[in-house]
Amino acid sequence: MITEQLKKIEDEVLACTKCSLYQGRHRVVFGSGNQHAPVFIVGEAPGFEEDKTGVAFVGKSGQLLEKILLACNFSRQKEVYMGNVVKCRPPQNRTPTTAEQAACLPYLERQIEIIQPKIIILLGSTALKAFFGASSRITRERGHWQNWFQYPVMPTYHPSALLRNPGLKKEAWEDFKKVIVKYRELVDSQHYCKYI
Ligand code: SF4
Repeated sequence: MITEQLKKIEDEVLACTKCSLYQGRHRVVFGSGNQHAPVFIVGEAPGFEEDKTGVAFVGKSGQLLEKILLACNFSRQKEVYMGNVVKCRPPQNRTPTTAEQAACLPYLERQIEIIQPKIIILLGSTALKAFFGASSRITRERGHWQNWFQYPVMPTYHPSALLRNPGLKKEAWEDFKKVIVKYRELVDSQHYCKYI
């Protein structure tokens, strides 16, 4: 059932021309991971590698994210589903405009509605603002639980920011530790993580 519902959205997205980003894309990056995942991770937009492969978070940022998830003992096969605010790569990896985000976000919202995760993680400023408005600040709100409809949401830095500024990694790890605690509370009290 979930598979069919997601497939329906994916078919719409593959043919989508709702914003100008469709003109430059090679592949639409719909989202990937376990369709029954309790953790839904939201990034900004596909980059070069994602546009080439059609898979979310496979470039350098994605590799760093994989390492963080491994440290949490989370995997795309089991605990995690990943998607972006926009599904087509913006030229030169620029930030998607508010109009592009507004055009694309309903697809992501429908994915979340179908998957019904227990926890949402927002990576970076664009994802945070897309969910909570333009006045949000990632530096201020990261590490603090928020609610988006019925979902607990943890904003944290995007892995690309951690690559640019490795000094932020410690704070980001503190945020992910809070996610592990919440995961034990809401999903699996026995979830193993060797770090906490
Ligand atoms: S970014 Fe989203 S709204 Fe824009 S063309 Fe791609 S799928 Fe459609």
